[in-house]
Amino acid sequence: MRAAVFGKPGIENLKVIDNIEKPKLANPDDVLIKVKVAGVNPIDNVVISGSIPTVKPVPHIPGAEVSGTVDEIGNEVNGLKKGDRVLIHNKMFDGKCDMCLSGLDMICRNGGLIGVITNGGFAEYIAVPQRNTFKIPDDMDWDLAASLPVTGLTPFHALNEAHLKMNEFLLVFGASGNTGMVAIQLGKKMGAKVIAVSKEEEWVRDFGADYVITDYDRVIEQVREITSGKMADVVVNSLGVKTWDSSFESIGINGRLVTFGGLTGADVKLNVQALYSKQIKLIGSTGGTRRELKDLIDNHDKIQVKAWKRFDLDNIQKALQALFSKERSGRIFLDVS
Ligand SMILES: [Zn+2]
Repeated sequence: MRAAVFGKPGIENLKVIDNIEKPKLANPDDVLIKVKVAGVNPIDNVVISGSIPTVKPVPHIPGAEVSGTVDEIGNEVNGLKKGDRVLIHNKMFDGKCDMCLSGLDMICRNGGLIGVITNGGFAEYIAVPQRNTFKIPDDMDWDLAASLPVTGLTPFHALNEAHLKMNEFLLVFGASGNTGMVAIQLGKKMGAKVIAVSKEEEWVRDFGADYVITDYDRVIEQVREITSGKMADVVVNSLGVKTWDSSFESIGINGRLVTFGGLTGADVKLNVQALYSKQIKLIGSTGGTRRELKDLIDNHDKIQVKAWKRFDLDNIQKALQALFSKERSGRIFLDVS
């Protein structure tokens, strides 16, 4: 089969190889998926850049967001057949530790991510355990299917962790990015008044934002104006250090800041006095539960993802470089087959 593989860190070392052996079904509950669409996600860049020491196997096929069709099933697979349309939940978990037993398989003590601790989906085929597959409805397109397990699930879980309530002000940084565009749609569905920080005023508004802040240097004062001085109840910021100060200062009394990424750097300053005197809660969030993923699949008609650029597998380097484009507005997808 064809796949994008790297042996040494760096996008320039990611090469498409034509004659890689098709993955085998190592366990009787494994499923072989023919990949249709893969999302290009910042996590893939982190993997390729070499900053995760646990990446395996090496040489490695990255690709964390995958949709496709069932091609072959192991002897113990039930309820799936060749040709079924599926998405891949990219979280590996043991189902046995205290976290898994609490329904928190995304923070399994012995878990990891498909595409990080296993080969991923920048390939014609990928083999995964059946429990990592979810059948998708006929009317769900491949882009949304590839997007729900990371781009969709991550902000959904984060908003649930932050206990976003009806009528609260939700402030979303990076609102035209992967997770941002889903956060504004879900925030709206959950009954919040959504303030989006984005240069893409028009389509971010179409996705449900009530207010759009386009001037990144005036976020705090504009939030003050919009909320009549109350400031935001929940702030979503996965952009890291660059927007940390303005996001922290935009939180109101009893507000919550939730983060699941640090794209521009992870080391931030914290004013402890502001934290306790306003009774602010800082929340870290990662992935989401399988129940939450099922809820997203069942409500997929209420969620859209905007494609910005599409590439074929041969142009995988360009697809990854496009993640860093200043013009990026929406998602980057790989059409694998
Ligand atoms: Zn576990």
